[in-house]
Order: sequence, then C-alpha cells, then structure tokens
Amino acid sequence: MTSSAQRAATVPDGPDHPVPRDPVPGLSQRPCVLRVSGLVAGYGDLAAVRGVDLEVHAGEVVALLGPNGAGKTTTLLTLAGELPKIAGEVRYMERPFKGPLHQRVRRGLAFVPEERSVFMGLSVADNLKIGGRSARVLAMFPELGPLLGRRAGLLSGGEQQMLTLGRALAMKPKMLMVDELSVGLAPLIVDRLFDALITTAREDGTAVLLVEQQARRALRVADRWYLLSRGVLAAKGNASDSDALWESYVS
Ligand code: ATP
Repeated sequence: MTSSAQRAATVPDGPDHPVPRDPVPGLSQRPCVLRVSGLVAGYGDLAAVRGVDLEVHAGEVVALLGPNGAGKTTTLLTLAGELPKIAGEVRYMERPFKGPLHQRVRRGLAFVPEERSVFMGLSVADNLKIGGRSARVLAMFPELGPLLGRRAGLLSGGEQQMLTLGRALAMKPKMLMVDELSVGLAPLIVDRLFDALITTAREDGTAVLLVEQQARRALRVADRWYLLSRGVLAAKGNASDSDALWESYVS
C-alpha cells in the first residue's frame, strides 16, 4: 500500500513557477467541445477508470493530472477512440463521440500519444509533407528549419516532439488530446511545447486536454485541472486553486 508520504513524493516536479492564475474570463461560457459523463474505461471487463466526468471548452487548456497508474492514459485513449469505453457518455460538440480514432480525427480531433509519432526513417521535410502544412509547423518551431534534410530518427527527443506536436497543431484541430508530452525532455523544451499549446488554444480556439504527470509544470499553462487517483476523480479546480490540488495529491 502506498503511504501518503510516498504519494507526496510524486508531486513536486520542475521549478516552482509563480504561475497559478485565474483562467481567462468567459472561457467556461464558450462552446463545450468535449463533455464526458460517468465514463468507465479499462481493459476487457476490468475497469481502470470509474465514473469520470469532465468538460473541455473551446480555447481552454485542461490538465488531467495524477500519479502513476491513476488512469490518465486509459481515460485519454478511450476519449480518442483507441480503447472501447465500458460505460458512460462521451459527447463532442454536443453530439455522441463514437468510433475509432480515424473517424474522430475527421471531426477535428488531433491526438498526440505518449510515444512519439514521427516517421523515423523519413526526413523532417518528408514528415512535414505528409502533414501538408509545413509552413505553419516551421513558424511554430523555427528550430526545425535547419533540420529539414535530416532523418527524423536522428533528431533529439525534443526536436521529435516538436515535429509531432507541430504536425498535430498545424491541422488547426477543434480538439487536441496530448499524452505526457514532457516525458524524458529537458524543462526548457517542455516549456516551449506547452507554450505552443496555450498559443493554439487562445489563437485557434482549440480545446486542449493535456495528460501530465508533471503537475506543477502543467499548471503553468492549464486553465483548469482534474486530478485522477486510483481510477476516480479525486478533485478538480482552476489553475489558481493549486493548493487544493496539492492537498488532494497527499490525502
Ligand atoms: P502513468 O502516468 O504511469 O502512465 P496513468 O495514470 O496513465 O499512469 P494508466 O496507464 O491509465 O495510468 O493505468 C491505469 C491502470 O490500468 C493501471 O492499474 C495499469 O496497470 C492498468 N493498465 C494499463 N494498461 C493496461 C493494459 N494494457 N492491460 C491491463 N491493464 C492495464
């Protein structure tokens, strides 16, 4: 059994940004892009996540936080159509959100899974051609410009993640779901990637759902957060309610 001291030890991450702030006024009045009620999700009949309710509105960044094994990835994979749900309702633009990932992508979803999804054997330029919107990606991440002729497999982890995220954002998705963007990356790179999320939310009105273990860093860009603990929602709040988050993490 995990002690509260052990759980508390999973919380701190990254520098102490003096960030927590109130969300941009009026975000919760914008159209609800994703509305999840009573979601039960898991593997076969085994529920790893039970009774999750959450909403993501146009133009806001929402973080789904929690320690290892809390059920964050299971939730995200289910919302993206990669895992069948066991029960509950998922609505997208107020209509049922059903079918496999490729059908949801046609309705404006972009999904960035935990493992980097670039074509490792192709050059950066060819990876961008497949996406078809290279100018926008290069405007977002200019450091990819000098690397256009390089094979994606030879890029650093951070550069690969810029390519992955840039391609997803270049589609101007209505909804972006991102799983653990920060894994294995230097803090400065993570900040660049997270900044791109908030810019896209604000400028394109994209609804962003960000799964993240580095809670402190995620709160730097999130407007609101939900905390998952052992498969259930333990707490939720605005970025400025971070005390409630830390308290729930250790309780
Ligand atoms: P992490 O941050 O470590 O990835 P998480 O919050 O994303 O954790 P999940 O990966 O969603 O958590 O795991 C939730 C639960 O589901 C865990 O108990 C995990 O062992 C279980 N689980 C994950 N993948 C599978 C699988 N393919 N088959 C069966 N159980 C699984």
